[in-house]
Order: sequence, then C-alpha cells, then structure tokens
Amino acid sequence: MTGTTHIVGAGLAGLSCAVRLTEEGRGVALHEAARMAGGRCRSYYDSSLDLAIDNGNHLLLSGNAAALDYARRIGSVDELAGPKECVFDFLDTRDGARWRLRPNASRLPWWIFAGDRRVPGTTPKDYLGALGILVAKKGATIGEAMKCSGLLYERLWGPVLLSALNTEPRDSSAALAAAVLRETLAAGGAACRPLVARRGLGTAFIEPALATLAARGAAPRFGARLKKIEFGGDRIAALDFGDEKIALAEGDRVVLAVPPWTAQELVPGLVAPDDFRGIVNAHFKIAPPPGQPPLIGMIGSLSEWLFAFDDRLSVTISGADRLMDESRESLAERIWAEVAAAAGLPAALPPWQIVKEKRATFAATPAQQQRRPGATTRWRNLFLAGDWTATGLPATIEGAIRSGYRAAELAT
Ligand SMILES: Cc1cc2nc3c(=O)[nH]c(=O)nc-3n(C[C@H](O)[C@H](O)[C@H](O)COP(=O)(O)OP(=O)(O)OC[C@H]3O[C@@H](n4cnc5c(N)ncnc54)[C@H](O)[C@@H]3O)c2cc1C
Repeated sequence: MTGTTHIVGAGLAGLSCAVRLTEEGRGVALHEAARMAGGRCRSYYDSSLDLAIDNGNHLLLSGNAAALDYARRIGSVDELAGPKECVFDFLDTRDGARWRLRPNASRLPWWIFAGDRRVPGTTPKDYLGALGILVAKKGATIGEAMKCSGLLYERLWGPVLLSALNTEPRDSSAALAAAVLRETLAAGGAACRPLVARRGLGTAFIEPALATLAARGAAPRFGARLKKIEFGGDRIAALDFGDEKIALAEGDRVVLAVPPWTAQELVPGLVAPDDFRGIVNAHFKIAPPPGQPPLIGMIGSLSEWLFAFDDRLSVTISGADRLMDESRESLAERIWAEVAAAAGLPAALPPWQIVKEKRATFAATPAQQQRRPGATTRWRNLFLAGDWTATGLPATIEGAIRSGYRAAELAT
C-alpha cells in the first residue's frame, strides 16, 4: 500500500504508531497541537525548581511487554531502572511498620507462604480473596468481586489497584483489574519488577522516539491542532488545521491519537469515555537521604507513592479529584510533613512544585469501560489510538503503546 498515514497527536499512542510505521518504510506525517511531544507522559523544565521534572511519576512493571518493546525499538530501554528482583518497599504511616513485599519470580506464588516476603499481619489464606477478581462476572466492580476491607486490602490490594486504575477500586471494573493482575502479579514476580525512568519520561520515552522519527524523515509538526475532519462517503476527505487544509489522496490514512474529549469533538457520533480521574504529584527539590528506597508505598497517608530521584523526592496521589480545589501551598505542606517523617528529613519545606492533572485517565469503571471504542471506525481510512480505546487495559503507558501498535497494523 502506498500513501501517507497522518497521525494526529504525538503522545505515546501517536509516537509508537509512527515508530512502527516508519520502521517499515511507510510514509508518516505526525501532527501535534502542543509545542512539545509526550502528551500526558512528558518532562519539562520547571523554572521555580530549576529542575527538569515529569508531569507525573510513571511506574512501569517488567511485565509491560509493549512498553519495553517500544523502548527497545527507540534505543532507550536502559533508561528504565529497577531492582533485579521484584521488591516493593512499604511504610504504614499509622503504626510505622515497614516491610518489603517480595513476590518470587515464578508463576507459582510460594512467596505468600513466606512470612518475610508477604505483608506483615496477613496469612496465606488472605491472599486467596483476590482470586475473585480473576473470576468476576462481566461488568462487575472490584467491590462486587472481592472483599474491599481488612488489613491485606488496606496494605496491598487497595493501594496497588488504586494506582493501577486511578479510580476508587470498589467502583472500578474487575475486568480491567484482572487484565492487569494476569499480566503482572499472576504471571509471577519476574513480571512485576518496578521500573522507573530515572532520568525522566522525556529521556526514556519521548526524545529518543523523536530522534528516531527525525532520522526517518517523520519529525512531528508542532503547533498543528486538528480543528475539523471533512468526511466524504465512507472515508475521510480532508484534515483541517485552520491555517492549512490537507486533502487526503485515495491511499492516505488517518490515525487519530488524541484524548477522548478531542476525538469526540472531531468524530461525529463517537462514543468514548467521558468521566475522568485526576492525579496529583508533589515534587520536592531535596537530595534523598542515604539508603532511601527508589520507591515506597505509603499506607494510611495522603501521600501514596514516594519516588526518590537523584535531585528530588516526588509523591504521587491517584484518584485525586478531592484535592483539585485545595491550594497548592496547603498540599505541599501537608505532603511534605508526611514525606519528611517517612524519610527522616527536616520539617522545613524545601522548594516544591505541585502538578495537578485533572483528566489524567478515564475512570476505570464498568460503565466507562463499555464506552471504549475499537481502533476501526465506519470510515475506512480512519483509525483510533489512545489509552482510552478498547485495549483491555486501564489508561496506562502499556495500553497507549499497544493502541499505537494496533493502529499501525491496521494502517499498513
Ligand atoms: C500524572 C499522571 C501519572 C500517570 N502515571 C502512570 C503510571 O505510573 N504508569 C502508567 O503506565 N501510566 C501512567 N499514566 C498514564 C499515561 O501517561 C497515559 O496512559 C499515556 O501517556 C496516554 O498516552 P496517549 O498517547 O494515549 O494520550 P496523550 O498523552 O493524551 O496524547 C494525546 C496527544 O494529542 C495531542 N492533541 C490533542 N488534541 C489535538 C489536536 N486537535 N490536534 C493535534 N494534536 C492534539 C495532545 O497534545 C497530546 O500530545 C499517568 C498519567 C498521568 C497524567
């Protein structure tokens, strides 16, 4: 097939689609509304901190096959750092208990029988409760599939599911949780090693992709916001960017890799997720104390995950809609008080930045899950990509990249 594939949106879905198509020598034109690529997964220079920071800390797991494949293809897989084995440090801020969760590498989960590997205060039998997620009825919530209370829920399932789904777990889709569990914890500790972009999301996921695309003559056109699509019969006839209209030839295709709210404005009748959840990140410019784990799950506090980078400590709070109206100053103070206590640092607030992402992900509820469209449309040259399309996964890097790969297959 000849022709150009116009990819609209240079987030991870659009970039991964472009990487795959150009690898096969296909003609690609990438259009991005913003002045930079990366969308919801980006690094930027923060002048108040005088540091490059990420819009939000992103955690990958070693079972995220598409994300690792993408990083290999753009030559950045070494940017993803993590322990050699599956290890998660936790702190229960209510009683000061600290532990290391250490699922064994293989699929047979013997770690739940080892007291020094599982959550303190729990028994092996407690872990069977989560099996309800794997056998839940279609359309069930996690609240219907398992007991959402008790020490194991508070110390493990609640925090892990909240961060994977970015939605209150009780109300979230059991099918989405099951998809995550099958590809990670149920696949054994080897698929659950935590991986973090140590030098930032830009260095790991965006800049190497842009360099790869530039070398293949497919550098994005920035500041190019698609305003309107012109439809003609069963195909798209033109893309209208306001200052420029691109007429599509017979062999040309379009991959729309924009967020769902934009896709709904552009495509008549498109049903897509329309309920979203926020994430708050707090960045503190301070060197982590010696021995600080790269990642700590914090239980019983406002702070949920504490990331340690060379030049800063950063906290992620998921499903954070309740915090969107709280002042940044108040959030910085409250979060720092918890971080200082957890890391044994002075109470004086270091330079900080709060990043609120209101529509970080779609709400991972059964109702929203039903609104996710597939990659094909009723127009034969229009394909959809993005973490919100029907990938079977929650809104994640893994899902976004899989959707980009799928659109590339369809557009080939
Ligand atoms: C704070 C935060 C923390 C997160 N943490 C994690 C995590 O720990 N692990 C994980 O796996 N995932 C995480 N995610 C989710 C992950 O970032 C997303 O799933 C992923 O980045 C979505 O990529 P995308 O390409 O589908 O969409 P987007 O990144 O939204 O990309 C869409 C692109 O389209 C562009 N665009 C919009 N309108 C137009 C237009 N009209 N014309 C042209 N271009 C347009 C946008 O500017 C953007 O660049 C997190 C997200 C946030 C916000």
